[in-house]
Amino acid sequence: MKDFAYAVPATLARAAALWREAPDASRFLAGGTDLLGMMKDFVIQPARVISLAAIPELRGIREEDGALVIGAMTPLGDVIASPLVRARCPALVQAAAGIKSPQLRNMATLGGDLLQRPRCWYFRRGFGLLGMKDGKSLVLDGEDRFHAILGNAGPAKFASPSSIAPALVAAGAELLVWNGEGTRRMAALDLYRTPEREEESEFSLAGGEILVAVRLPAARPASATCEVRQRKSLDWPVAAASACLDLENGRVAGARLVLGQVAPVPWLVDVTSLLAGKPLDEEGAKAAAEAALKDATPLAGNGYKVQVAEVAARRALLAAAGKAG
Ligand SMILES: Cc1cc2nc3c(=O)[nH]c(=O)nc-3n(C[C@H](O)[C@H](O)[C@H](O)COP(=O)(O)OP(=O)(O)OC[C@H]3O[C@@H](n4cnc5c(N)ncnc54)[C@H](O)[C@@H]3O)c2cc1C
Repeated sequence: MKDFAYAVPATLARAAALWREAPDASRFLAGGTDLLGMMKDFVIQPARVISLAAIPELRGIREEDGALVIGAMTPLGDVIASPLVRARCPALVQAAAGIKSPQLRNMATLGGDLLQRPRCWYFRRGFGLLGMKDGKSLVLDGEDRFHAILGNAGPAKFASPSSIAPALVAAGAELLVWNGEGTRRMAALDLYRTPEREEESEFSLAGGEILVAVRLPAARPASATCEVRQRKSLDWPVAAASACLDLENGRVAGARLVLGQVAPVPWLVDVTSLLAGKPLDEEGAKAAAEAALKDATPLAGNGYKVQVAEVAARRALLAAAGKAG
């Protein structure tokens, strides 16, 4: 690993000021479970690493005006153990609990999970986010079994890696972001974007912006996450789905389904029109899951992900309604 300077600011303002001193050479450090791996593999080589560990606003879980605010530096283990989170958004707890390794649960943070970089092996071997060489996509010419099956018409073929983001998007969560002068809010889905050119990011944060917290709205829709994994630990899901249902007298009034690991962004599908006015049953869940995948455009080697994602979507919808999938 290349040598780097290490700073541990105690305030958001100081962290932002340190960034501004060397914007191109700085990276924020949370739990380090992704950042340090990228540095060891020489995918990135920051000259300055700015730890966010000593900034109090970034930690903890608290209720605020009916909403639930979870600091970005909260370890995933604390999210999983929190009765407040469990009562408000089971889909979030289930998504975090899918990460089985105790080391990750202790070190990895909520914010770091949302901002982890894609697992595309071409990206991880230094060929950039779009995995290009000599103007050609290495993904299309090479190994694509874990890549995107939706939203992949452009040059970005990677799959958004966070298995927690779909749960937050389905729940209509907001993110609080420190921009150097104050805090702005954005919908969780708006954090993610599909890059069209190599120099673009997959996140909509401006350089030096810090994710402060996640804000779950006061409403408590029924929710669930279902993942399909090849291995139970130390791996990412092949496909995942989080569903949030507004139920009125047992009938669906609103339904948000978000697929994970299938597109460069968490893939939101509003399946309300398919399900509204009826109790959610096996037939409805199947129809909604099929509708969510109907526009899939798998690559040469990942057609199997369509069926896997459909299964995850159907199970997540049924589980959100309290029924076994
Ligand atoms: C073997 C293995 C299996 C895994 N399985 C899964 C899985 O199933 N599902 C899943 O979702 N993840 C999985 N992960 C990924 C893991 O959850 C992430 O590495 C972790 O959540 C990143 O959090 P961190 O706090 O360590 O972030 P870091 O590594 O410190 O940071 C990650 C990125 O986010 C930026 N960043 C972090 N916090 C902030 C902030 N507050 N503001 C601005 N920028 C910030 C950093 O600069 C960096 O670019 C796995 C990882 C490993 C090693």
